Amino acid sequence: MGWAHFRCHTSLVTYPGGMGDGEKYEAVIGLEVHVQLKTQSKAFSGSRCGFGEVPNTATDPVIMGLPGALPVINHEAIRQTVRAGLMFNCDISPLCRWDRKNYFYPDNPKNYQISQQGLPICVGGSVEIELPGPARNIMGPHRSVRLNRIHLEEDVGKLTHCGDYSLIDFNRAGTPLAEIVSEPDIFSPDEAAACLNSIRMSLESACISDCNMEKGQMRCDVNVSLRPVGSKELGNRTELKNLNSISGVRNAIFYEIRRQREILEAGGTPTQGTRRWNAEQGISEGMRSKENAQDYCYFPEPDLMPVHIHTELVEELRKTLPGSPFDRQRRFMQQFDLPYTITSVICFDYNLSRFFEQTLIFHHNPRGIANLIINDLLRELSQNLLPPGDFGISPKDLAQLVKLSDGGQISKQAAQDVLVEVFRTGDGVGTIIERLGCTQSQNPDELMAICREVIGKNPKAVGEFRAGKTAAINALKGQVMKVTGGKANPAQVNIALGELLN
Ligand code: ADP
Ligand code: MG
Repeated sequence: MGWAHFRCHTSLVTYPGGMGDGEKYEAVIGLEVHVQLKTQSKAFSGSRCGFGEVPNTATDPVIMGLPGALPVINHEAIRQTVRAGLMFNCDISPLCRWDRKNYFYPDNPKNYQISQQGLPICVGGSVEIELPGPARNIMGPHRSVRLNRIHLEEDVGKLTHCGDYSLIDFNRAGTPLAEIVSEPDIFSPDEAAACLNSIRMSLESACISDCNMEKGQMRCDVNVSLRPVGSKELGNRTELKNLNSISGVRNAIFYEIRRQREILEAGGTPTQGTRRWNAEQGISEGMRSKENAQDYCYFPEPDLMPVHIHTELVEELRKTLPGSPFDRQRRFMQQFDLPYTITSVICFDYNLSRFFEQTLIFHHNPRGIANLIINDLLRELSQNLLPPGDFGISPKDLAQLVKLSDGGQISKQAAQDVLVEVFRTGDGVGTIIERLGCTQSQNPDELMAICREVIGKNPKAVGEFRAGKTAAINALKGQVMKVTGGKANPAQVNIALGELLN
């Protein structure tokens, strides 16, 4: 299968092994995204959430479904779900309710999962996505993917299959999950990836979920169907369960589009059903023909009261939210005259955006500060594991470094070296500068004397400069820097040499 065109709503995008030119079919995709909410305790019990702890230590009788144990609602989980809804402009239901989704499987000792079928916390809404741009350095076109709902439910235990037996860990069981359900409003693998990225950025920046897909904090079911181009009806869909990486989602959709197209072209109809993505082999495998709501025998959870969500609470929670990452990026590009490439790194991390703006308070050079952050600070952070929101240096110290380098008191190189030292030693900027002695010589008389000496010792370069080869001044500059041990201010050296030579 070679490179081919694949029709997506806004543009013709080229994909390897995609659909052929003059393609008859169009892909329609809907996502169900599960994110673990950042709460101390579980959704319907007081047990702590225990990621990475000794298996089966973060449970209690409610989680284990022991007789007589009753669920209680975790208010924080509701608040976080409301906040998620507000991030995506959903309507918040004044009244929500709990339902039992019944199924029998070892990851779930109660034999039902508490979820919300009829009255979810959030209804409607949309996710803004950025489509692949025409060039790397400008924002690509944006559009929104409509959401159907966001509801709160509980996670199940984690099964690890080991040949002819399986291990079960209930630490994850009961962890609050927000399930974000999109409308079938996505038309290409890249749009699906963009949608997941956007959801992750928004939830991370609002501290609703860490959305770490490697840790299973964000997982995705992907629904894919094909329909004839121009048709408004939806085709039979397959649902790919529990994808845990964005590249996995893209690959699975590419594969599924190809598989379904081959069936359609052979005159068949894809069967509606659930499939498993086998990432090692890069194929999807049939699991079961799709169960529908009846198979789960949903009924209202008798042990939990419906919950009223008052407008006062909604308004209070709205005040705790950051703006959308894309809004922030548009603002940073405009207000600070920063390029797309820089803003797309800074703005999609809310803590980093805040750190950047706090630094600007102490020294307003957005470009200089952004460059030091992107080129140096992020490298140091990737090598030194720090808790989220800790940048290893205070905004004031970072501002001071850029300010000193802008004012010519230290060189750009020295600013970078000092930053490395901050991470190595934990000392403040002032202390390190003093210790390294990297302030640039500011005494003009001293500098003039050094320049005069260098000119005297380098008649060849001086001759070339006077003969019109202006670049020869660089050799002299290099000598001055060498004599001063790199402490001279390059701009001042330029001026001094220029004066003496002319
Ligand atoms: P279920 O809960 O049984 O999986 P839903 O009707 O709630 O079913 O839909 C789940 C997801 O599937 C939603 O994201 C929806 O947009 C998507 N979807 C529904 N029908 C189709 C279709 N024909 N093609 C692609 N996606 C679809
Ligand atoms: Mg589903």
